[in-house]
Amino acid sequence: MNKELRQAIIAGNWKMNKTRPEARALIEELKPIAEKATCGVVICVPFTNLETAVELTKGTNIKVGAENVHFEKSGAFTGEISADMLTEIGVEYVIIGHSERRQYFGETDETVNKRTRAALAAGLKPIVCVGELLWERECNITEEVIARQIKLDLFDVSEEDLKNVVIAYEPVWAIGTGKTATAEQAQEVCAFIRATLAKLYSKETADAVTIQYGGSMNPKNAAELVAQPDVDGGLIGGASLKAADFGVLLEAASNG
Ligand code: PEP
Repeated sequence: MNKELRQAIIAGNWKMNKTRPEARALIEELKPIAEKATCGVVICVPFTNLETAVELTKGTNIKVGAENVHFEKSGAFTGEISADMLTEIGVEYVIIGHSERRQYFGETDETVNKRTRAALAAGLKPIVCVGELLWERECNITEEVIARQIKLDLFDVSEEDLKNVVIAYEPVWAIGTGKTATAEQAQEVCAFIRATLAKLYSKETADAVTIQYGGSMNPKNAAELVAQPDVDGGLIGGASLKAADFGVLLEAASNG
């Protein structure tokens, strides 16, 4: 088991939730809870809460991430935010290619790749999401789908840059549905992702990559999921919106 070669990270994905006062309250509640964690702690918040989150988490072990980033540096891209705009306010992580963005906002592997490379060039740490649809799992092509996403999403990402990439394995059928992959299913695909990275780069580098599981992870199922040898924490939606629940996940990943 090579778990000591990489950091387990619990990253919250707040999605389109929390006004500024609500964000402040949640972060203040989270600070003393997160303090005890030995795993990495990240909260990915809506654009309107980024500055608040950066300000409130200064001097703590909580890192702040955005939920998306555009790949161009600047220009006529109404409604978009560049990587430099994120780093200039102190953001360190960014979720890229979340299935909700792929499903509702036309995100493709090509744009995921462009965003990932732009984020890395600006010094951000991308959390790149991959995962199969239920139909694809039922057709027994999960590994094909995941291998294709990994190859396309990381195209032209150097071995050096890969050290700053976090991969989140998020089976689409498990996100926000209350259906969790079993610990065996999560382990199987996370191990497959690591093996794919080892082929594309090297075993040494693949062993150092943080590969999270995401999909209805909650206080009840977290310990078993994060104890798997290739599961290095999680990307958490619903359970990241309550400090106590998030705290249980942090404890699980700290012990996992
Ligand atoms: C997510 O949004 O990445 C996610 C995993 O959501 P949930 O935990 O609510 O399934």
